[in-house]
Amino acid sequence: MGRVLAVSAVLLGGLIMVGMLATAKPPPRRVVEKPVKPPPPTREERLRAEPLPEVLAPLVSIAQPKLPSGPGDWLSEHPEDGQSLAQHKVDCRPVVGRVIYLVPAGEFSEAAKKVIDRLEPLLAAHFQLPVKRLPPLSDAIAGKSERPHPDFGAQWLTRDILEGLEKVKPADAAAVMAITMVDLYPDPTWNFVFGEASYDGRVGVMSLARTGDLMTEQTVVLERSYTTAMHEIGHMFQLLHCVAWECPMNGSNHQVEADSRPLEPCPHCLAKLMVATGMEPGKRWKELRAAFREAGLLRGVKEIDREVGAAVVPAVVVPGAIVPGAVDGGGAGGG
Ligand SMILES: [Zn+2]
Ligand SMILES: [Zn+2]
Repeated sequence: MGRVLAVSAVLLGGLIMVGMLATAKPPPRRVVEKPVKPPPPTREERLRAEPLPEVLAPLVSIAQPKLPSGPGDWLSEHPEDGQSLAQHKVDCRPVVGRVIYLVPAGEFSEAAKKVIDRLEPLLAAHFQLPVKRLPPLSDAIAGKSERPHPDFGAQWLTRDILEGLEKVKPADAAAVMAITMVDLYPDPTWNFVFGEASYDGRVGVMSLARTGDLMTEQTVVLERSYTTAMHEIGHMFQLLHCVAWECPMNGSNHQVEADSRPLEPCPHCLAKLMVATGMEPGKRWKELRAAFREAGLLRGVKEIDREVGAAVVPAVVVPGAIVPGAVDGGGAGGG
């Protein structure tokens, strides 16, 4: 049986050989060069490519594109499309009132009062709007839906505070922001929230409860309070979460994620602020740099120096703006 099979194989091999000899040589194959089509740009790439005002356009070269989100990060849990400049122009209602009001809610220690004192000049410089204080919001309003929390003692429902602020909002308010030492929750199904804002009402609330030790970590507490306040007030000017760049307008699901953000907004969120408040970037950089320095937030000073270094060319220097090498305004050639 084995021998018969072997013979068949030899015969078959012979037939194949004959077949190959009889076949004509195939013509050389032509290689047609098809243009390689690049993949269509992602939503994030399209947002990053959107044209910017001239003064901000060079900042794209130093901005960090949004890094991929890990498990538990905001975008992994809350996928978002972001917001183009064009869309923000449509979304942003005119900012008629010109004052940002801060409102203490609940009990305030001396250390917490100091945080608000130090926040005021930072927010005024960032938004280029005056910042004033309103009398404290009553506990009856702010703590209406209190629930216990094992680590923070108690949590307050943000909605109670937002509704309370609507009632005390002055006519000249651009935005009203409550600040409390009590931890917050936005909905019974959520664990906590750093802060929350109402887009339509232009009111918001933030908590100092998770910012750190108010006595021994003052710089960290101030940095975290500043980024939460400017993020929430940014929402009040109809800025949605940024998905294009690493930016303080990114959503944050936890403290490590929030701490990883730069203090300065990305070029596109700065452009949105220009639309909302009419702020002039050169004047803003000069005043915010001074405020960061005064507050000891050296990370902010460094970020502004990078922005100024990238952005300022003589053609776009406006009266009162910073010029390279003189960002303090007092150095040689300061303007
Ligand atoms: Zn947000
Ligand atoms: Zn941004």
